[in-house]
Amino acid sequence: MNAKIIDGKAFAATVRDRVARTVDRLKAEAGITPGLAVVLVGEDPASEVYVRSKGKATLEAGMNSYEHKLDADTSERDLLALIERLNNDPEVHGILVQLPLPAHLDPDVVINAIDPAKDVDGFHISNVGLLGTGQKSMVPCTPLGCLLMLREHHGSLSGLNAVIVGRSNIVGKPMAQLLLGDSCTVTIAHSRTRNLAEICRNADILVAAVGRPEMIPGDWVKPGATVIDVGINRIPHPEDGGKTRLVGDVDFDSAAAVAGAVTPVPGGVGPMTIACLLANTVTACSRAHGLPEPEGLTS
Ligand code: NDP
Repeated sequence: MNAKIIDGKAFAATVRDRVARTVDRLKAEAGITPGLAVVLVGEDPASEVYVRSKGKATLEAGMNSYEHKLDADTSERDLLALIERLNNDPEVHGILVQLPLPAHLDPDVVINAIDPAKDVDGFHISNVGLLGTGQKSMVPCTPLGCLLMLREHHGSLSGLNAVIVGRSNIVGKPMAQLLLGDSCTVTIAHSRTRNLAEICRNADILVAAVGRPEMIPGDWVKPGATVIDVGINRIPHPEDGGKTRLVGDVDFDSAAAVAGAVTPVPGGVGPMTIACLLANTVTACSRAHGLPEPEGLTS
């Protein structure tokens, strides 16, 4: 293996440390405790795990965590009424509605009801527009985590060729905006892209956000490139079909033989996503109180 393994878990710990120090300062100097409200509708087991780990991380950073668990058959009216209450609650600086929502609830309506200043997931249409026009916004956590890792590894990203495989609203598109903002030359690929292998081989930075296990092999990777694997896929364990294991969208072993640096799965992008949720919450809190934003935690 040639590549440096980018340790997302270790870097996320330093980001969480920075967040905790900012929280201490907000408490000591301004008497403010940042608060994050997480809303879960229904009993999707994966969502319950995510919500629990977000709540735990929020408390560990010294912030207040408010969990709102609603029945699966909650009406849109009741959910919007809760969001309105949270929008008006001065103790709440960040609001996150865990997706996916039950089928009878329209995620666009729900997300766009959140006060954009408290939209720590960065999915509100105002934040999407602000990011797209290079203005100060709340930035989606996963691409923000990727950007912070890339900056940490490279320093300046200016002039590098970046290829993002995947064009979703939560990862691919905002990732492209962020890398453009850092002056990369950006290509977004998707399921209709022709000559995907060739396009990937041109990337100094290759971001895989597809959701297909180990789809990108090492011979699609330019020698020395930095590979960020966003994918989280559960596949049967090779030695024990009864068990499963997590893999990314990149074939790790063959990519690591060629790349300059690569993020592992698990332990790469995943831990950074939660760290950036905490970072967005302290950023939202600082902005709400007209205080300077914490350094190194935003785009
Ligand atoms: P989506 O399903 O919303 O988007 C997948 C994208 O991949 C689409 O743009 C799709 O193209 C493209 N795609 C699908 N098949 C191919 C193909 N054969 N060749 C090229 N492109 C293809 O997924 P998300 O963006 O939400 O998530 C992507 C992955 O990242 C998933 O594994 C998810 O679990 C993971 N994830 C991880 C997070 C973390 O914290 N680490 C957070 C969020 C997601 P098209 O638009 O043409 O259909």
